[in-house]
Amino acid sequence: MSVPQVARKIVTAIPGPKSEALKAEHTRYVSAGVGQGMPVFAETASGSTITDVDGNRFIDLASGIAVTGVGNCAPEVVAAVREEVAKLTHTNFATTPYANYIEVCKKLDEHTPGDFAKKSVLVNSGAEAVENAIKIARKYTGRSAVVVMENAFHGRTNLTMAMTTKSMPYKQGFGAFAPDVFRVPFSYPLRDDFGADGAAAAKAAAAKIELLVGSANVAAVIAEPIQGEGGFIVPAEGFLSGLAEWAHAHDVLYISDEIQAGFCRSGKWFACEYDGVVPDLITTAKALGGGMPLAAVTGRAEIMDAVQPGGIGGTYGGNPVSCAASLAAIGIMEEQDLPAKAAHIGEVVESVLGPLVDEVPAVAEVRGRGAMIGVEFVKPGTMEPNKELVGRIAKRTIQEGLIMLTCGINGNVIRLLPPLVITDDELNEALAVLKEIIVEESAK
Ligand SMILES: *Cc1c(COP(=O)(O)O)cnc(C)c1O
Repeated sequence: MSVPQVARKIVTAIPGPKSEALKAEHTRYVSAGVGQGMPVFAETASGSTITDVDGNRFIDLASGIAVTGVGNCAPEVVAAVREEVAKLTHTNFATTPYANYIEVCKKLDEHTPGDFAKKSVLVNSGAEAVENAIKIARKYTGRSAVVVMENAFHGRTNLTMAMTTKSMPYKQGFGAFAPDVFRVPFSYPLRDDFGADGAAAAKAAAAKIELLVGSANVAAVIAEPIQGEGGFIVPAEGFLSGLAEWAHAHDVLYISDEIQAGFCRSGKWFACEYDGVVPDLITTAKALGGGMPLAAVTGRAEIMDAVQPGGIGGTYGGNPVSCAASLAAIGIMEEQDLPAKAAHIGEVVESVLGPLVDEVPAVAEVRGRGAMIGVEFVKPGTMEPNKELVGRIAKRTIQEGLIMLTCGINGNVIRLLPPLVITDDELNEALAVLKEIIVEESAK
């Protein structure tokens, strides 16, 4: 490796001895179903670096799956959490309300697209937000069918498993699944027949909905504005807006699942804004809590108010400590203009990795928006997914001091989700390392 270690610091073999010892404990005490990703165990983190139990320091290109957009242990978030947890640990908002839950809902009203009154419900996880969005849509429309996209990921609960495409590992053996979920093709410009013609792809999806379900039975269409787990797929311009227009013409609600792409990640506050889409409901989580568990459904007030009191919510939803963290994180997003920061990160990544499409035959595409960038790998000379190569690249990146994730329905995409506060020096160091690894492993 020719790139000098500055932000990174590798001082032991990877994994080091303490991580090795913890791995044995992990295997002994933690369900195998949780999976074991990185071979190292985190001990501390700061901004865009994570230090493991052996003292090795890694540049973070994952943000805990797009959660720590404002950086890990952001001082403002840490202070807000410390202060709140000593004042109010938990009450349950539905029985004994408190102010900062409402403050988070105000921020959601302010920043989500749509020039109309919006209301929110706060929950604990992305899957729970999606479940609630569907409950609300069904209650409001009096219809039951839900339309989801090919390659979608919406979570691991029963309903969201049904909504998720990929069987292994998310669904295999976990049926029976919730009924009334129908899947239509998403726009995938690299691979589908429509290419850059998003409007035509939307028309085809709408025709399939009519055929499969009949619009009169559909409560909601839900789409990720940029597919996350499915492969960082950016739909062609006109696809999301075409789908939303079709929905609105048929009294079907349009839900944007912004759990991964939302809250500044894409270079805008919400990624559906790129296609001028104003959703009826928006699901958020991940970056919303600044690192603490928090998720939300936000939407048109009359839709959100269609539910009988007590019909949505839960014991922990909108915990005051999570709300305090969220308000601090949103404050950083506003003050430091993180959408602009994300757009800048996207430009830097594109300038370094973009040329690989011409230089490395296994790189099919470098795509994404803002600080949500994927690199799709194929077997050279074909369009066949190259999961094996991506596996080798991922294995090397951790050895060389990067925390980096993969994704894709076929496991052949590497995905970059750096904290939005990453410095240019950290980012350039990480990209130089990654580029060298991609070039070397692709040549093998
Ligand atoms: C992560 C994710 C979810 C599920 O969130 P959890 O908090 O893991 O339940 C749902 N939708 C999208 C788009 C996601 O990226």
